[in-house]
Amino acid sequence: MSYQASDTRYNTMRYSRSGRSGVKLPLISLGLWHNFGGVDTLSNSREMILKAFDLGITHFDLANNYGPPPGSAEESFGSVMAKDLRPYRDQLFISTKAGWGMWPGPYGDWGSRKYLIASLDQSLKRMGLDYVDLLYHHRPDPETPLEETMSALDQIVRQGKALYVGISSYDAERTASASKILKQLGTPCLIHQPSYSMLNRSIEEKLLDVLEAEGIGCIAFCPLAQGLLTSKYLNGIPEGSRAAKPWGFLKADRITEDVIAKVGKLNDIASGRGQSLAQMSLAWVLRDERVTSALIGASKVSQIEENAAALERLDFAPEELSAIDEALA
Ligand code: NDP
Repeated sequence: MSYQASDTRYNTMRYSRSGRSGVKLPLISLGLWHNFGGVDTLSNSREMILKAFDLGITHFDLANNYGPPPGSAEESFGSVMAKDLRPYRDQLFISTKAGWGMWPGPYGDWGSRKYLIASLDQSLKRMGLDYVDLLYHHRPDPETPLEETMSALDQIVRQGKALYVGISSYDAERTASASKILKQLGTPCLIHQPSYSMLNRSIEEKLLDVLEAEGIGCIAFCPLAQGLLTSKYLNGIPEGSRAAKPWGFLKADRITEDVIAKVGKLNDIASGRGQSLAQMSLAWVLRDERVTSALIGASKVSQIEENAAALERLDFAPEELSAIDEALA
């Protein structure tokens, strides 16, 4: 059946400016790390992408290696682009990344110009796109000079293959250095993609201050800690969940009694707010205005609907925030 985007798609989603750029991103974005690969059911992946767009989620986040197998999430996305989303290309903000191992030998990993340029060319082919809106360097490379990696990003923008550039998982110091180089080159860093959730608050120490000072946005990955910050693991590991899948990155040994005790307390606080724990976890990440967007994953359409409805209650009373801090202590 041919797809027609919902007429109401821009009615409820909210959009926030990424740092001091011209770009606004939806408060909830969708990432294709899990559940969009060759091992997954394409019809379900397609339905999730289209439901997200119907809810005003204009930003889709990919990487060269998402799958499994690596590259297949970009292929799945490419098939939805070709079949359904082509007429809406200018309403979409599509990102991909390079930085983790993608092909054998010395040129398929890390941060050289050789790798980044070849990788983006491959990504564009897999997705059937002329350009991506955003290319990230996916992780810091301790050996390649930062100047080389940043100037490769700048070159890619000048080639018209990406409109903006970003970095992921860089610490505060390296972020400040990368930002200075990119500004000198005339291609400012649009956004940083760090891990951020109630269970991982390390960016609060320094990184968020650097991003604010440099005018860089922040899109929080794993805001639900891969599903731990929902009610799904409160009574064991459900069949079909990420922790139950052999290729899932959420390993069962992370679901400890201590974590589940905390999650149980958080779940009670969320109920008191009239929200699911997934919704409160997203609202919590978005409570800091320096966070541009919460980058969720999903395995079902219903999760995307539930998560987008987090926007119905984003405010927190001071007592709620202290109760959350106590639950996490
Ligand atoms: P989340 O923390 O949002 O976890 C998503 C998982 O949580 C889903 O797959 C689903 O798991 C479960 N879930 C989601 N919503 C609900 C709900 N309402 N109720 C119950 N369970 C729910 O994010 P991800 O770990 O998926 O990461 C999101 C994105 O961040 C990635 O797709 C990627 O784009 C990006 N990312 C970037 C990284 C980087 O290095 N830059 C690293 C990791 C992620 P289940 O399958 O069990 O149903």
